[in-house]
Amino acid sequence: MSNFRFKALEIAQSRQAIAVAPPAERVGDYYGINTFNKEVMRALLSPEAYLRITEAIETGGKVDRDIADEVAGAMKSWAISKGATHYTHWFQPLTGETAEKHDAFFDITMDGKAIEKFKGGALVQQEPDASSFPSGGLRNTFEARGYTGWDPSSPAFLMDNGAGGKTLCIPSVFISYTGEALDYKTPLLKSLAALDKAATAVGQYFDRNIDKVTATLGPEQEYFLVDRALFYARPDLVLAGRTVFGHSPARGQQLEDHYFGSIPPRVNAFMVDFEFEAMKLGMPVRTRHNEVAPGQFEVAPTFEEVNLAIDHNALLMDLMEKVAEKHNFKVLFHEKPFAGINGSGKHNNWSMGTNTGVNLLAPSTKPKESLRFLTFLTNVVKAVHDNADLLRASIASAGNEHRLGANEAPPAIVSVFLGETLTKALEDLETKNEISLNKGDNVYYKLGLNRIPSLMRDNTDRNRTSPFAFTGNKFEFRAVGGSANSASTMTVLNAIVADQLTRFKQDLDVRLANGEKKELAIVDILKQYYRASKRILFEGNGYSEEWVEEAARRGLSNIKSSPEALAVYVKPESLALFERTGIMGHAEVESRYEIELEKYIKKVQIESRVIGDLAMNHVVSTALKYQNKLAETARALVDLGMNAEAEPIKDLLREISTRVIVIKQKVEAMTETRKKANNLGDTVETARMYATEVKDFFEVIRYEVDKLELIIDDEDWPLVKYREMLFVK
Ligand code: ADP
Ligand code: MG
Repeated sequence: MSNFRFKALEIAQSRQAIAVAPPAERVGDYYGINTFNKEVMRALLSPEAYLRITEAIETGGKVDRDIADEVAGAMKSWAISKGATHYTHWFQPLTGETAEKHDAFFDITMDGKAIEKFKGGALVQQEPDASSFPSGGLRNTFEARGYTGWDPSSPAFLMDNGAGGKTLCIPSVFISYTGEALDYKTPLLKSLAALDKAATAVGQYFDRNIDKVTATLGPEQEYFLVDRALFYARPDLVLAGRTVFGHSPARGQQLEDHYFGSIPPRVNAFMVDFEFEAMKLGMPVRTRHNEVAPGQFEVAPTFEEVNLAIDHNALLMDLMEKVAEKHNFKVLFHEKPFAGINGSGKHNNWSMGTNTGVNLLAPSTKPKESLRFLTFLTNVVKAVHDNADLLRASIASAGNEHRLGANEAPPAIVSVFLGETLTKALEDLETKNEISLNKGDNVYYKLGLNRIPSLMRDNTDRNRTSPFAFTGNKFEFRAVGGSANSASTMTVLNAIVADQLTRFKQDLDVRLANGEKKELAIVDILKQYYRASKRILFEGNGYSEEWVEEAARRGLSNIKSSPEALAVYVKPESLALFERTGIMGHAEVESRYEIELEKYIKKVQIESRVIGDLAMNHVVSTALKYQNKLAETARALVDLGMNAEAEPIKDLLREISTRVIVIKQKVEAMTETRKKANNLGDTVETARMYATEVKDFFEVIRYEVDKLELIIDDEDWPLVKYREMLFVK
């Protein structure tokens, strides 16, 4: 039985890199060829339709039916000319995966004629069978009538559907018949609109020409690669996406030897391959070759408008999984696939750009621009400070729970890193008491603001342990889980910043109405904001035990469990915020909360079952067999009169017995607890019980199993070991 592991190892070790040729010599010749992008539209649409569609893309406006018909026609002929046979609305339901329902472009009638099915109507709106997607009580599953609606701001693209054909995928929203969002994209789009409105209004104090603010996102994606054969030899990876057992080899040191190793050829081939495929789909990716842990890699796309970046990230994850198959790999996006080894995050690099070409989070050498920069920066800090728990809620999941606030760092504390120079600049701003009321240009000088930029330019300090770090001209939210859809987090971030900017405008308008000078009023408000939120700033090692204590002293939250974190979504102040910003109504937020809890329960339940099953049917059974072997040896020694020599073996037998007994007891107790949790009949309570009581067994059982792994003969051990999985050739 245990030979399964060795068979898998044999297969994995015999594999060679699969060579990949570039699709064309120059990137320009294949970049975006699988997308229905602006260039294609310009070539295929009438000038009128092209104008109207680009307008809709830029302003998020609606597209008339006649234009939709024309676009649908062009899309169809373009897709068919490239080998597509089917089309689908491609959307992001709250399951966390992307969803599609493929329809053929043509129907064959009874008399054998092909009739066209894809017109403007089908482009704009579709009716998937919504019953299979979660709605958190919003929709009675028996009246599964939601619909998907085309999002023209994200270009349609072609996907290989595996069977040789291609499918035209049309990025879409997914909403219920009564108009509630059933997906990630709908609230995201609304949050982007809210942020645009609020940030534009504030931007106008500095530059009247600002009439649009676009949030930008560059999501760096971390992931692990495991050989396909080894993956399938680990039922826990297959079923739960992470290893529930496994002793990490000599924690730390042995792994570190491989830390800066060069990329293994097979991995390199995979990276090159998915990079080509991603570029064909118009995704600006740069694969990164800096592993953080053995077997771990990273891909960093160039930033794009947030909605597009999120579609691209979801698509990229699908694509990576497909390309990995070809290279006999499995991609793990799970937040913590291996204990004792770095987890995987999705680092969300976020900023705001204006129609005038300005990055609102980029420091400047000009005093006036400095004030603008500080205004946006301080408002973001204040927003994060005031809504840290909501931000924490937005990254809560069963997977991320293993990464944040578990046994290993990082903790689940939201803090902001600004870097020494910027912190000092804000500190100066706060403590400067003698603000001159002199009018005129030198007001910035009097405020000391002219000196900030030169200080900031060499601000290259980095803090890799901060969950929310300012990195020169953007914030990087690193606590987002590797498998997450960033939309939840981006929706919350946009919402809280939009709300904060709106409050800033109100505060400022009151002062302006009182005749205060604009710049002075702004500085004064920023001072107050800084004072009110500076406890969230932290420059030190966010992974240290001292920080956990220090944060507690500062009164910052450290919400470890997901159900507890998620509960913040439905607090009155959160509901009010989503409503005020026009992003989600109460029912929508509540249903999301419900769905996230259900997902959580399901995940932990699966893990718990896998743990029980592996422990009993793989580990304990192996241990008992090994005990037989040991017992025979001991008996033989005793028969030969070698009693002393038999003693250590008897000790081993005793140790194995003790561990087996603990495992058996704990697995039984865990199963009982699970039953109790399932029977509570209340999602919130069930989730809470899973998070605490059921999960409490995981580490205890794991501890014993990992000890057995060290004792039992390597030849007999059934599960592929960490060192075998992590060091890809
Ligand atoms: P570094 O690695 O030094 O942090 P990079 O330039 O490699 O910086 O950027 C890291 C990520 O941040 C990339 O995905 C990049 O596209 C993204 N990024 C850069 N500028 C912005 C911005 N203005 N808005 C959003 N993301 C950005
Ligand atoms: Mg990064």
